[in-house]
Amino acid sequence: MARIVMKFGGTSVADLDRIRNVAGRVKRAVDAGDEVAVVVSAMAGVTNQLVAWCQQLSPLHDAREYDTVVATGEQVTTGLLAIALQEIGVDARSWQGWQIPVRTDAQHGKARIASIEGAELIRRMQAGQVAVVAGFQGVAPDQRIATLGRGGSDTSAVALAAALRAERCDIYTDVDGVYTTDPRIVPRAKKLPRIAYEEMLELASVGAKVLQTRSVELAMKERVRVQVLSSFEDKPGTLVVDEEEIVEQEIVSGIAYSRDEAKMTVRGVPDRPGIAAAIFGPLSEAGMNVDMIVQNVSADGTTDLTFTISRADLPRAQATLEAAKEKIGYSAILADSDVAKISVVGVGMRSHAGVASTMFATLASKGINIQVISTSEIKVSVLIAADYTELAVRALHTAYGLDA
Ligand code: ADP
Ligand code: ASP
Ligand code: MG
Repeated sequence: MARIVMKFGGTSVADLDRIRNVAGRVKRAVDAGDEVAVVVSAMAGVTNQLVAWCQQLSPLHDAREYDTVVATGEQVTTGLLAIALQEIGVDARSWQGWQIPVRTDAQHGKARIASIEGAELIRRMQAGQVAVVAGFQGVAPDQRIATLGRGGSDTSAVALAAALRAERCDIYTDVDGVYTTDPRIVPRAKKLPRIAYEEMLELASVGAKVLQTRSVELAMKERVRVQVLSSFEDKPGTLVVDEEEIVEQEIVSGIAYSRDEAKMTVRGVPDRPGIAAAIFGPLSEAGMNVDMIVQNVSADGTTDLTFTISRADLPRAQATLEAAKEKIGYSAILADSDVAKISVVGVGMRSHAGVASTMFATLASKGINIQVISTSEIKVSVLIAADYTELAVRALHTAYGLDA
């Protein structure tokens, strides 16, 4: 008997049969005596549609109204799952973020959870009621609905597990664990029985969508035991654990790709102190994160600055920089969304040289041009043309000896 949080992603609740399947899984846990809170995503495809509608009406839409729209997907699933549970004799009720409440900061569209009021849920779970909680949403300080960024239901689940002092947070999804790379791109990817928090954090932050970055950060900080497993098969999944709990550590543990970034180049900026601040200051004030950055040497007192930004932020970033044109004094801005970021990750890089050079040589042997490079202690990332994504990931997976 334990208190657990079970999270089901979009594909796991994609239609009524799958919602019934989820209800069956929850019932098994309840019958085994567990106190259960369930966190659900929107049904597969729903959030994409809602986001597209906002973008079609206005690329620079009001983020508070965007949240009002996109949070609805999860509300539907909570009600449907509660009905499906009641139908098989399980006491259950739905909870929206604002009802609990899940309080967030003011960053509409990519808010962070500030606190969760867990007492009432705990009381009801102890009385045998299943709490069916809408992932991805909370309430901002302005009392309006906020969402947590794409993939945010993972973070809702981990934060809820921490607030409820749950024993485990089980993330049920459409793959049966965390693999050395996306198994949909590389069928020979290997399932990892365990992965270190640091590696999972890095993999998630460079694009491995299996867990949202912030959920791993929270799990690490709040010591939540996270397990990734299949909602369709009964198989052991992947446990996210401390580095010390991993016996045989590979140098490279995984490869990730992201097509969610866009490249921007600011041409002909004066090469003088304060220029980077003039460009990146306004972007960060507007809540946009810049990722990879390169600055060219200056030939004639001016230089080019290239960086990557979330693709969803591109229209806003362009508008922000256009508004600051006078102040920065550039000649042109170029944007390219046809790019992909490929990253290799592994804690073994701390003690082994040569990981980056293997990456560069492998890409060169496939004729893939590298546009931007960035590194951290346990990661090397490169930006390439999007068309080469799969080729690059497969070639690197083989080059680092990760093929099953
Ligand atoms: P959910 O809707 O359940 O949240 P997501 O689509 O967000 O599911 O995440 C699961 C997907 O993550 C998988 O279908 C897989 O394609 C992708 N993925 C990317 N990298 C990995 C990886 N290293 N291991 C497992 N899955 C990965
Ligand atoms: N439904 C949201 C999304 O598609 C949140 C989630 O699924 O985690 O991004
Ligand atoms: Mg997800």
